[in-house]
Parts: sequence; C-alpha cells; structure tokens
Amino acid sequence: MNRILITSAIPYINGIKHLGNLVGSQLPADLFARYNRARGAEVMFICATDEHGTPAELAAAKAGKPVAEFCAEMYDVQADIANRFGLSFDHFGRSSSPQNRKLTQHFAGRLKAEGYIEEVSEKQVYSNADGRFLPDRYIEGTCPNCGYDSARGDQCENCTKQLDPTDLIEPRSAISGSTDLEVRETKHLYLRQSKLKDQLDAWINSKTDWPVLTTSIAKKWLHDGDGLRDRGITRDLEWGVPVKDGETDWPGMEGKVFYVWFDAPIEYIAATKEWADARGLDDSAWESWWRTDKGADDVRYVQFMGKDNVPFHTLSFPATIMGSGEPWKLVDYIKSFNYLNYDGGQFSTSKGRGVFMDQALDILPADYWRWWLLSHAPETSDSEFTWENFQASVNKDLADVLGNFVSRVTKFCNSKFGPAVPEGGAYGAREEALIADLTTKIRAYEGHMAAMDVRKSSAELRSIWVAGNEYLQEVAPWTTFKENPDQAAAQIRLALNLIRVYAVLSAPFIPTASAQMLSGMNTLDMSWPDDVEAALGALPVGHEFTVPEVLFAKITDDQREEWAEKFSGVRD
Ligand SMILES: [Zn+2]
Repeated sequence: MNRILITSAIPYINGIKHLGNLVGSQLPADLFARYNRARGAEVMFICATDEHGTPAELAAAKAGKPVAEFCAEMYDVQADIANRFGLSFDHFGRSSSPQNRKLTQHFAGRLKAEGYIEEVSEKQVYSNADGRFLPDRYIEGTCPNCGYDSARGDQCENCTKQLDPTDLIEPRSAISGSTDLEVRETKHLYLRQSKLKDQLDAWINSKTDWPVLTTSIAKKWLHDGDGLRDRGITRDLEWGVPVKDGETDWPGMEGKVFYVWFDAPIEYIAATKEWADARGLDDSAWESWWRTDKGADDVRYVQFMGKDNVPFHTLSFPATIMGSGEPWKLVDYIKSFNYLNYDGGQFSTSKGRGVFMDQALDILPADYWRWWLLSHAPETSDSEFTWENFQASVNKDLADVLGNFVSRVTKFCNSKFGPAVPEGGAYGAREEALIADLTTKIRAYEGHMAAMDVRKSSAELRSIWVAGNEYLQEVAPWTTFKENPDQAAAQIRLALNLIRVYAVLSAPFIPTASAQMLSGMNTLDMSWPDDVEAALGALPVGHEFTVPEVLFAKITDDQREEWAEKFSGVRD
C-alpha cells in the first residue's frame, strides 16, 4: 500500500485567510490528497490552526475576549470555511491542543538531553504596573526616526524602521499605558541549530529532487553571513505551551512558554495524534505515520507551503527532529509556492486588501475559486488575480467546455433516446482515435499530478475536456441522428460514459461539480480510467441517468464590475 502523509502550512488564528493564503498551501495540498486517494493510496492529510504567540493575544484583547475563548471561536470559523471550500483534511487540529502541549514539552526535553538547548540571559523590558515582561509588540513609544508617537517595539509602522524596544522615546506599555518600565534580566532557552548545520546541509544536499525555490532558500540561511544561527525558543508570555523538560519542571523557566515557531510545526505530529484520539485509536495509529521505527519508514511525507515558510520547514523543524535523537519522520518533499497578488497589488490580511475566503464563498461556490486558483497557482513566479481573468477562465473552461458538454449530451439523449444509455451502433475509427488521444492525455495528467505540477495538471485536464467537446462537435450526433440513429446512439453512449470519466478525473479540482456529474449519471463508480476503452463502457446500455442542473453559471459583465468595485477597497 502506497502511504502518503501530507501537511499544509498551518494558518495563523488571528483572522480569516485570503485567497492568496489558500492557494499557497491548503488548496494545492488538498488537490494532491484527493488525487492520491483516488489512485488508491492511503493518505493522511493534516492541517491545524496556529494559535500561540503575541498576535493572538493582541487580537483577542482587541476583540475584548480571553485569548483561549477567542482562539476557540476563530478555530470554528476557520474550520467551517475550510469545510465549505472542500478542503478534505483527515484532521484539522489546534496547536493549543493538550496533545501538542505534551509533544512540544517532550521535544524540548529530548533536545536538552541531547545537548541542543542553551540557557541564555537577556535584558528585556519589564512593566511594574502590569507585572510582566513586555515583548516587542507590547511596547509603544515615539519613533526616534520619524517622531510617530505610536511606534511599536519591533518596528515603526509609519516609517517602517526596524526598532529595538530600547530605541523608543518615552516608551509605555501597550497593555496599560504605564511608563513605569525597567530593563530586567530574564533567561531564555535557545535551540543550538548551529551545531546541526553540517547534518542539515548534508540532508538538504541529498534532496536532489526538490524545487530550486526550496533548496536555494534553505542554502541561503545555512551559508549566508554567519551561517545558521541559534534561535530562542521561549518567551515571557502567558498564552502558549508552558516550558517543561518533558514532564518535569524546568528550573528557572517558570511562567515562560515556548515561542510559537517552536511548537507550531510540532502540531503536524500532534494533530495526527488528535486524529487518532478523536477516533478512539491507540498510539500506533498515529505513530505509524510519524515514527520510522513504528511503520513510518514506508511513508512518503510531503509538505505544502508558501515560500516565506520554507526556512522553518527546511531548517528549524528538521533541527528539532534531528536533535531529538529519536526516529521521527523527516519531510521527503517540500512543495513551495510564490505569492498570488491581487489586482495590481498585494493581498494583505492586516490591511484587509483582496478577497477573503468567506467573502469568496458569499458570491460563488467553491469550485469556481478552486479551478481559477489552481489553474493559476503561483508556482514558478508570483501570479495575479484579476476579475477579467477570473471571469474569462470560469466562463470558458468551466461553463463553455465542461458544463456545456455535460448539458448537451444529457439533454440530447434525454430528448431523442430517453433518460438511459442508448443501445445500437458501434464504435469506429473516430472513437478509436478519441480513445487513443484520451489515453495519452490521461497518462500525462497522472504524471503532472504525481509531480505536483499544479498548473500543468489543470492544463492537461482542460485539454481532456476539450477533446470530448471536439469529438462531439465533429461527429454531431444531432445531425447523425436524422440519417443513422444507431450511430448517433453509439456516439452518445460514449459521451455519457465520458461524463463519468470527467467526473472522476476532475474531482480533485472541482469536487462538488464532480459529485453532481456522478449523481446525474446515477453512479457511485469512481474507478480511475486506467484502461480508457474499458472506462468508456462502465455505464452499460439501459443504465438510467438524470439531466443534471447547470453545473456552472457564467459570470456576467455586470457581476464582474460589481465585484471588482466591491473588493477594490479594504475590508471593514
Ligand atoms: Zn518612524
């Protein structure tokens, strides 16, 4: 059995994601998961919300809610939207889960035992009024560069200058506004990544099949300047995984939590345990995906992410795993993406610019977005969403090519032969040519899908739809019918069967439309067209069907203009 573990970069909890986030990890990961399931592989597809860190605390404070409550609510919102987009996670977990807490503490304990943790004393700003240390974003003051009076401790939003909290003039707590601040010593844990540099380097070098986009980013971080630097893995915050050495307390680290970058990728593993726990399965069920001593040595592990996440996944998370000295599964292949831009600028969560996942579903069903986003995935370079392009792609590919084929074939058959696969006639040279053509194209499609070439896959799928349309146009059963009804019956028999084949091939891209097509064809037969000729006989003579509802409505110019206007500004 072919076993494939797939993880999508986990979205941060503090808001609804935009379409650029979606196409950068979750959606192509879903495409790959659905394809591999359709080909009979055993798939574990994992995603989760990334819930710890300062931005979650600040977003909760802004919403006037305790952070745990805020995260629980936002988790439900994100899970619901993911579900409505057809993202077929086996489990959508939460990095704040008890499973992740325990695993993160376990990894920290193992790294300490193996000599990869260093305790470092640092100076940090402490607020007497708030009774706590203040991380960068919790300190505000006047920018020494431009005089802006609400500059943050890490950066001035007005002039974008990077700052240290101690640079600020008249610094104050962003929580209470108190100016009763002092600099105190505090101790933090550092992951000694530099000690693992050679091991990481050799591992990256062994990945000769990885895209250059992925390896070049990793190499840059490994070798530029001073090379790979040790990283702090703890913070003086309340919201997060409490620092522990496995299950025992860590003297001197009381009241501290792990830094979000440390626990977030461990959630890939923890979410798989969440999956097992939710189903009442024992530990072997999730360990067989993650422990090479417990069955994961035959697993292929593929990660999907935007390019900004590559350093963490090629260096920091592997350092955590390698440094543990335990046989955890390392990633086998990383599929990374460039950025999707929006109508001449960037999508921006903080600025509310672009189309967000919930807004997209308010105006059109998921399949329209899935098709456009995947067929324009930012693989080799950044790509851009424009309403004109979206309208053209939906109307041509989905409505004119695929939708029209299904509609014409089923309506014609229904009116001339009745609602069942007609008998009579036989396939001739034109049908054989079509079968040969489809066979070539389907084998190419399989190759692109297996290689995660998203755009090439969509182009090939479209050409498979086009081949059916061209056949129909050429043999014109509506004309044939007048002189030779038997031959027309044979042509329509093939075309009805082709609808089922299209449903099977298209399901990873447009699962809802695929289900509609199968439902119309009155079949649950999702078998893959390994043998195209046989597949075109799967629905036998006399098999009844119903004419499906219109699969894809065209986007009108009025709609396009209305939406372009509606989404031209920023979100409230
Ligand atoms: Zn400034």
